[in-house]
Amino acid sequence: MRPLIPLLLLSTAVAAHAQTDDFARCLDGLRTTARTSGVSEATFRTHTEALQPNMGVVGNLDAQPEFKTPIWDYLAFLVDDERVADGATRLKEHAEVLQRVQQRYGVDPATVVAVWGVESNFGQGFGRTPIVQSLATLSCFGRRQAYFRTEFLAALRILQAGHFAPERFTGSWAGAFGHTQFMPSTFERLAVDFDGDGRADLFDSAPDALASTANFLQRAGWSNQLPWGFEVKLPAGFSAAGEGRRTKRPSAEWRARGLRLVDGSSVPEGMSLGLLTPAGVQGPAFLVTRNFDALYSYNAAESYGLAIAHLADRLRGAGAFTTPWPTDDAGLSRADRREVQTLLLARGHDIGAVDGALGEKTRAAVRVEQERLGWEANGRAGQKLLKALRGG
Ligand code: CA
Repeated sequence: MRPLIPLLLLSTAVAAHAQTDDFARCLDGLRTTARTSGVSEATFRTHTEALQPNMGVVGNLDAQPEFKTPIWDYLAFLVDDERVADGATRLKEHAEVLQRVQQRYGVDPATVVAVWGVESNFGQGFGRTPIVQSLATLSCFGRRQAYFRTEFLAALRILQAGHFAPERFTGSWAGAFGHTQFMPSTFERLAVDFDGDGRADLFDSAPDALASTANFLQRAGWSNQLPWGFEVKLPAGFSAAGEGRRTKRPSAEWRARGLRLVDGSSVPEGMSLGLLTPAGVQGPAFLVTRNFDALYSYNAAESYGLAIAHLADRLRGAGAFTTPWPTDDAGLSRADRREVQTLLLARGHDIGAVDGALGEKTRAAVRVEQERLGWEANGRAGQKLLKALRGG
């Protein structure tokens, strides 16, 4: 195979060159749209000249964790004891602001803080990918170019208005930024100045970020008269065919079909509720109100909505879901993930730093260990692998 390597390198270089040309042509094509969208020629030039595409972000489009990860892994990571404890601290720290936010926008402190915790780990992870570069790349490559063009132009308008210094304007690979991980167009529509310094600052002001989150949820239809929903117990033999978050039915209908809350009490009256069974009827089931839809609209994934809802419940003192997930290999908290990584390091695997993020290197090491154990080498680390590694 060795003689092929120079050829491969050459073809990679040619491909990269063609990509750069395509990118330059694509950006040039966006100039006119930019001008009619309120982006000046000078702003456009300043932020796009010499800009290279970041092709890494295009690959991420098809590998979003909300869609690929089993829901029990996703929730074990996002709603772990550590995040509940951190959230409780934030609730105390920002009690006064959260109270005012609730009065103004009608969204309770636990919900607002839960969004904050899931979006940026309470401000500890904003993302370090340059936003203009990401959005310019996604405007020109991949499958959602129209959407990302709108966001790219919004990002340029934000810089043009001087909201943030260009070098500060970094975020997730998809262009979401700050405490609340707002997309640029969401920032333009919904970010608010709540600490009264005259600017909506989602990087350096927790009050602005908390109020902006509540403003988002209020505009998305949040009602302070409703819970997000509740876990329910399905009657034996229940079919969830045709049911879903959007298929709302009156409480009375669910009662008539034999659903009860997990503590055995009746489904509360007078609500319009959709049934969510994220892992099928054998797993936890939930009746959800339109408040869940408001959470959903933050990131367009039901698993995401459930993570926020569950974290908010945990912050109000609730425990884990009553019905277990239908798996014999439960997911890992961040502490568990760090322990897996530490144990992999001790076994001589080169996985980089122990950071609780199960990236490529960690998954490769997991596959090696799975093979050694005679398991399917799929790279997924759960409680079983943690136990096996602890056992030596
Ligand atoms: Ca402010």
